[in-house]
Amino acid sequence: MTAPVRIAILGAAGRMGQALISSARDLPGLVLAALIERPGAPAIGQSVDGVRIGADLAAVLDHFDVLIDFTRPASSLAALELCSAAGKPVVLGTTGFSPAEQAEVAAAARFIAVCQSANFSVGVNVLLRLLADAARALGPGYDVEIVEAHHRHKVDAPSGTALALGRAVATALGRDLEAVAVYGREGQTGARDSQTIGFATVRGGDVIGDHTVLFLGEGERLELSHRASSRGNFAGGALRAAAWLHGRPPGLYDMKAVLGL
Ligand code: NAD
Repeated sequence: MTAPVRIAILGAAGRMGQALISSARDLPGLVLAALIERPGAPAIGQSVDGVRIGADLAAVLDHFDVLIDFTRPASSLAALELCSAAGKPVVLGTTGFSPAEQAEVAAAARFIAVCQSANFSVGVNVLLRLLADAARALGPGYDVEIVEAHHRHKVDAPSGTALALGRAVATALGRDLEAVAVYGREGQTGARDSQTIGFATVRGGDVIGDHTVLFLGEGERLELSHRASSRGNFAGGALRAAAWLHGRPPGLYDMKAVLGL
């Protein structure tokens, strides 16, 4: 019998950290080995399932096989640096990296296996595939708009998932998302440029994550939507990615690779 994959969770007391702990309990083949929070966090010193929440990732590097990180870009980059020196793979769920920070993620992936996805849900990754097919079949005559909604605590906008959906459509249509994205509209905007991909953001309440991509044509519109009803779908996907990542050669992987999409 193969030994279970030992998992460490950075951001263990956060919304995703808690969802990961609770999903990991049901999974054979994985074991919770280390829990880490930011120094000074109230959860430090508490025990969850017999694992003490600590504040020092460097101190537990020998205790786990794969790190799962859902925190903030600055702590993720610090963790990637430690893990790349120690040869530990990382499942990277944090969103909101600037282009320069994303380059640091890619640099770390030259030394270790990193699985990064703006959205670890299986449904969203299937949606990414469907979108590319839809965009190619509909062609350039349909205007593309993306609407996303999240809870009031989310700190970045538009969501990393909305950007990934936009990128899937842009790539399928031969456009560069950075050049065609329009983030919100206000005032005298003029008529819509047909090349653009528009993003609209809703924030409030406890919405876990809703995304709709609209293809708006003459006389019809197609809407493809995904709605998350619990964080368990992200957590389950991230844990699946962790098991898949264990033993992989260095590289920057995504959830589509994990799912074979
Ligand atoms: P949250 O604020 O509830 O949790 C973040 C946790 O990270 C907090 O407990 C915080 O104390 C901890 N943290 C911050 N700095 C740290 C450090 N230096 N060391 C250790 N812990 C530290 O946020 P959340 O809702 O769990 O989301 C976290 C991130 O994951 C966000 O970027 C969010 O957008 C992203 N997210 C991604 C997916 C996905 O599928 N990729 C899904 C949900 C959320």
